[in-house]
Order: sequence, then C-alpha cells, then structure tokens
Amino acid sequence: MDEETVTTELTAVVARAERNVVHDGGPFAAVVVLPDGRRFEGVNQVVPTSDPTAHAEVVAIRRACAATGSVALEGAVVYASCEPCPMCVAAALWARVDAVYYAADRHDAARAGFDDAAFHDYFTDPGRRELLPVVRQPVPAATRPFLAWQDKADRTPY
Ligand SMILES: [Zn+2]
Repeated sequence: MDEETVTTELTAVVARAERNVVHDGGPFAAVVVLPDGRRFEGVNQVVPTSDPTAHAEVVAIRRACAATGSVALEGAVVYASCEPCPMCVAAALWARVDAVYYAADRHDAARAGFDDAAFHDYFTDPGRRELLPVVRQPVPAATRPFLAWQDKADRTPY
C-alpha cells in the first residue's frame, strides 16, 4: 500500500474516532477496505453496547464479513486509529486480511487511560500469565468434537 493512501485513510479514521467520543463510544475507529473498494467502518461500541469485544476493528471486520457472506477477507486492508489490541490482531488474522495499518500506538492510548499494555505483555512475557489463568484439564471426550467435524462431509472449512 502506498504511503499517501495509508496516510489519507488513517487521517480519516482518526477523525472518525474523535467524533465517536461524542456518541459515548471509545476514541477508536477502523475501516476495512476490500480489494473491490467496498468499505466497512467500525467504531468502538464497548460501553454503548455493553460488549467488551466491540472494538472498532472487530466491528468493522464483522460488518465486512456479514456484507460479503465470507469469513475470509483476502486482499482487504484494515486501517485503525490506534494500534490494535491482541484480540483485534487475532480477529484480523482469522479474517485473513492482508495488512493492518494504525496511527496512534499503545502508549498514546495508555496516556488516555486505555492501558492494554498488560494484554500485550500477557502474550509476549510468560511471567505475566498470572493476569489470567488459562488451564488445560483433559477429559476423555475432549477430541470428539474434532472427530465429528472431520466426519462431517459437508463441512465448510475456515
Ligand atoms: Zn481491540
């Protein structure tokens, strides 16, 4: 993606993030741009919808996927007003987008009280895992859902 396009897209999405504050959303916005030029905007809706996963990037990806009827957005680019948190990076990975560009970073967000640095650290520093125990407890039938999946002839791989 050429630098001028990225700058233009990010400038627009940053302005959208600023406007979202007026509507009680968090100061974050994102847009998914598909290879055919279609655009799907998302703004942070965590508080208005009581949904901790309603980050701008996730909202935009959900809209793009719903509109296209596809869970794979190959060739798409996500522009985000701020550095995506680990959940949003994972959402972009699952959506198979080509790239994510962002403007402000996690430190800018932290200065405004959005300190997801601990979440980033959780994945990069094993010493930080006490933040949330994720514990494996094997049970005898644990892999049966996968067997059912593999036996399902008309499954839709993703
Ligand atoms: Zn996020």
